[in-house]
Amino acid sequence: MIEDLIKPNIKALKAYTIEAPPCSIRLDANESPYGFPLGTFRLPTNRYPDPGAVSLRRFLAGKLGIEPECILHGNGSDELIYYLLTAIGGPVVIPTPTFAMYRIIAESLGEKQLIVPLDEQFDLDMDAMLEAIEKNNPKLIFLSRPNNPTGNSFTFGRVVEIIEKADILVVVDEAYQPFSTRGDSFVDLLPRYRNLLVMRTLSKIGLAALRLGFLLGDKTIIGAINKVRLPYNVNSLSQAAAIGILEDEQSIDKGINAVIGERDKLFAELSKLKGIKVYPSDANFILFKLDINGSLSADALHKKLIADDILIKKLAGGGQNGSSGPLDNCFRVTVGTPKENAAFVTSLRKIIEETNK
Ligand SMILES: *Cc1c(COP(=O)(O)O)cnc(C)c1O
Repeated sequence: MIEDLIKPNIKALKAYTIEAPPCSIRLDANESPYGFPLGTFRLPTNRYPDPGAVSLRRFLAGKLGIEPECILHGNGSDELIYYLLTAIGGPVVIPTPTFAMYRIIAESLGEKQLIVPLDEQFDLDMDAMLEAIEKNNPKLIFLSRPNNPTGNSFTFGRVVEIIEKADILVVVDEAYQPFSTRGDSFVDLLPRYRNLLVMRTLSKIGLAALRLGFLLGDKTIIGAINKVRLPYNVNSLSQAAAIGILEDEQSIDKGINAVIGERDKLFAELSKLKGIKVYPSDANFILFKLDINGSLSADALHKKLIADDILIKKLAGGGQNGSSGPLDNCFRVTVGTPKENAAFVTSLRKIIEETNK
């Protein structure tokens, strides 16, 4: 049987499908509602891209105040997670609930995972974390801060404590950091800790189409991970377009600030609705939980929103084994344009009111 040739861990994997009913209001993928003009590029289509993305890395190094040798470029940060797990490997500590790709990629590569539940506030449970680290000798830990899909930022001091106490590589995934108004990025701590790595992406600030992510950290570690990088992982158009667009810092900031303003408005609106619990967010999305005593199921709500042409992300589980857990009956809604957010709130309010009648 040719099926027997497939590795058992891959056979057991569920394909990561992204369901996309054809809704015109799409608030499911944490994209920015604001894109940028791409411009025109005179690129030699017969030549491979610059394998080292030298211009782009230099440009970013200048912006971040670090050396280009401390930056690794990825085809989105998803690819960098893949490289980290390839070059460093497991056991890998992964909190739950968090970004699904950490587990999916570790599973694909057959690396051992240590799943540690977050506490009631979705913050790091330090006793559980330190115990898991002490007992199992992991090599790597992924911390999404702000955390997807819960939206909160783990307490700064707790992350620092893990970096200081644990002899492992700590990856702080700052995909949503631009939307946090706390002003505390782990990029500033890079010179102090050799075991700290920070991941950034352009996907959430209006450039998801380019597929560009960056890993920042110690030269030696970055150099080692660079060895497993595929030579031409980021295409020429993305390299050129990113520099052009990022140079206009004002426009980037304008998009980010608009989303932050709308997020806070959306949070206030959702908080007024009976039957849902809303969680505060430092990101470009909001987590909320349906709790109308079973008279409206999460599935039914999701379907009714889709019937109203609105797509948001239905969540579930988040427990240690991935099944039932704190995300049951939860949804994650991405902050859209003022019009999209208003349409979403109107539809949600209508659906809840109909149910309560
Ligand atoms: C969206 C997301 C990413 C993925 O970013 P890409 O650069 O698009 O691959 C990484 N980490 C977290 C926590 C995310 O939510």
